[in-house]
Amino acid sequence: MPELDSYEKTMEVLNKYDFHFKKKYGQNFLINPHILEDIVEGAEVTEYDTVIEIGPGIGALTQHLAEAAGRVICIELDDRLVPILHDTLSGYDNVTIINDDVLEVDFEKLFEQEKITGPVKFVANLPYYITTPIILGLLQKDIPFDSITVMVQREVAERMQAKPGTPEYGALTLAVEFYTEPEILFTVKPENFIPRPKVESAVITLHRKELTDEEKAIQGPLFKTVRAAFNQRRKTLVNAIYNAGISDLSKQEMENAMWNSCITTTWRAEVLSLKDYIRLAEVLKVK
Ligand code: SAM
Repeated sequence: MPELDSYEKTMEVLNKYDFHFKKKYGQNFLINPHILEDIVEGAEVTEYDTVIEIGPGIGALTQHLAEAAGRVICIELDDRLVPILHDTLSGYDNVTIINDDVLEVDFEKLFEQEKITGPVKFVANLPYYITTPIILGLLQKDIPFDSITVMVQREVAERMQAKPGTPEYGALTLAVEFYTEPEILFTVKPENFIPRPKVESAVITLHRKELTDEEKAIQGPLFKTVRAAFNQRRKTLVNAIYNAGISDLSKQEMENAMWNSCITTTWRAEVLSLKDYIRLAEVLKVK
């Protein structure tokens, strides 16, 4: 049975180990068992799944995941939490604890080492300071998984479904649209965490889409184009992409190619839809 289901029990563990939160690691631990259950339910975790949890903290969500999943592999950066996790998860024989930075993990190697074959789901209450690199990394590294269910800042959840032309629209929006079907499950108020974050949070699921052969072929050039455009978002499109050196075309050839495919060269990054970016990567022959 999951035990870390209240403020009091969480404080008991923190005091036992004299644990102090590190803000730089984005440590906001969930203390509401209903939310922990709702995350597991929202992720549709079954006994056939391997769940990879990023940032288990003291293991509150991990306990709930271990009850529902065939197997849980959790990756925690803060080495002070490792002995705590061994303690709080000692009742579960289906949990593997890895002490590493998720941004440094070679998932291909991890899947091989851990002999992971069945369906994989990522589930996490993410450290908010690196939400975007974590999600972009998982989507773009071609890791075989079914879905990602994560708690993020509400504003980030909204950014994932932003429309072109709005300030929230960016590389994350485009990657989420290209690779997944996103679904915002529910929002969570700050009082459900210790310490309390300053902002509201939201739990979202990104269901991975099956890419066509054409989409597989264009994904590399597409996201090079997107990165080039958003890295210099104050510049016009043609200048931003020309400066990035990702195409062998001259600036004049780029302008002609864009003109011929109805993309205005003076537009800026946030104006183009996903379809526009795909067309742009193709006509500019991005490598
Ligand atoms: N899962 C716990 C919960 O819901 O109560 C803790 C979530 S807390 C928001 C984020 C966790 O991610 C912390 O335990 C933090 O130490 C860990 N973390 C931060 N940066 C990380 C990284 N680069 N790789 C892996 N874990 C990280």
